[in-house]
Amino acid sequence: MITITFRKDNKSWAEPYKIKVVEPIKMTSRPEREAAIAEAGYNTFLLRSADVYIDLLTDSGTSAMSDNQWAGMMLGDEAYAGSRNFYNLRDAVEQYYSYRYMVPTHQGRGAEHILSRILVKPGDFVPGNMYFTTTRLHQELAGGTFVDVIVDEAHDPDALHPFKGDVDLDKLETLVQKVGAKRIPYVCIATCVNMAGGQPISMGNLKALRQWCDKHGILIVHDMTRVAENAFFIKEREPGYQDRSIASIVHELCALTDLATMSAKKDAMVNIGGFLAMNDPKLYEKACELVVVYEGLHTYGGMAGRDMEALARGIVESIEYEHIRARIGQVHYLAQKLMEAEVPIVKPVGGHAVFLDAKRLLSHLPQEQFPAQALAAALYLESGVRSMERGIVSAGRDKETGKHHAPKLELVRLTIPRRVYTQAHMDVTAEAVIAVHQQARKVKGLRFTYEPEMLRFFQARFEPVA
Ligand SMILES: *Cc1c(COP(=O)(O)O)cnc(C)c1O
Repeated sequence: MITITFRKDNKSWAEPYKIKVVEPIKMTSRPEREAAIAEAGYNTFLLRSADVYIDLLTDSGTSAMSDNQWAGMMLGDEAYAGSRNFYNLRDAVEQYYSYRYMVPTHQGRGAEHILSRILVKPGDFVPGNMYFTTTRLHQELAGGTFVDVIVDEAHDPDALHPFKGDVDLDKLETLVQKVGAKRIPYVCIATCVNMAGGQPISMGNLKALRQWCDKHGILIVHDMTRVAENAFFIKEREPGYQDRSIASIVHELCALTDLATMSAKKDAMVNIGGFLAMNDPKLYEKACELVVVYEGLHTYGGMAGRDMEALARGIVESIEYEHIRARIGQVHYLAQKLMEAEVPIVKPVGGHAVFLDAKRLLSHLPQEQFPAQALAAALYLESGVRSMERGIVSAGRDKETGKHHAPKLELVRLTIPRRVYTQAHMDVTAEAVIAVHQQARKVKGLRFTYEPEMLRFFQARFEPVA
């Protein structure tokens, strides 16, 4: 039997760490928040963090590093070439993630840029288990077209599928018949698919995909930003994995793929960094040529030596069972509180965030009035809790027709940074969301006052519709 809820044993769990350094945060008044959100054009990305009480904008680069990681920062070898921290990082990537070659980049999108330039030619198609904003943009800038091949359940916030990150192989087969395998350089597979709500892919599905790709001579690229969280769900839900360590599941997932892009700002608990990893020495050569142009020499890419050291250590910590259980446990604790109050959220709950279903929560607003954007602004106004839109604004416009992509999922993401907030912060957050839910009808829609051409969600500005 596959379970789809977070497995509870009889005992309470607690965070496997204690607090050594604290950073004060401040509660603002409602008039202060009204001024702040208006100045930010009703876009939570444009708020100053000093005006935020509990910051659930993103789990990217917001994690708390451990004392061991901070100690590693003091061992930074800032040599221009051949820093010892590079070798420590390279060894960690090979040992834990199985990839033989690695170039560091300043963050995930740096790796996506180099990858897309190496592998995507104009006219190519790049299938993936749902898009990610920067990933798709780099594919498009290289002349490719993204094709969504995730299972249909991923687009349904109520489908209780245990692995909503799975690829629908029939969709891939249809694509190959239409365009031919030669125009598909690789399939891009995200572990714990961010845009689907942090939903995992199963090992069984990835194995089937490996066979299919081998048959057609197509590579698999792994967006491994949240691979440890994915491994936790496999251990919880996939038959045969209950007694396996997180480390061994992570290794097995990676070993089924050919290349990987990593935003180390997520799972690996550093504030900045990433890499592009692979097994093919020829592709590594090409990556080395490009990384010197866009990031830095191949032994530091976009990173300082000290940051590579913190990352090497963060990788080890990220795959410890006690860590990942508490991390996902905290996300599910918040979700449980919201479900008890009947707030509509995406189910099953994913690994890094709770996603509010803005379409249902603000059902009086049409999608063209950006319900998720409006909800994120309303939640900030209520409580000082900062969240993020993941809906029609994030989806952008179709590059051919110029129309909005209108995604089925219109969500607000409450993203939990790793090791940063306590259960009490989750209680306050739940109370705030419940309060907005109770007066949902009062929330007004929004319209653009400024719309950037690319990745518009970051810098767009809005005003309320009268
Ligand atoms: C964050 C993220 C990226 C991009 O990484 P950055 O470090 O923000 O550049 C790519 N893919 C996924 C799934 C992500 O969550």
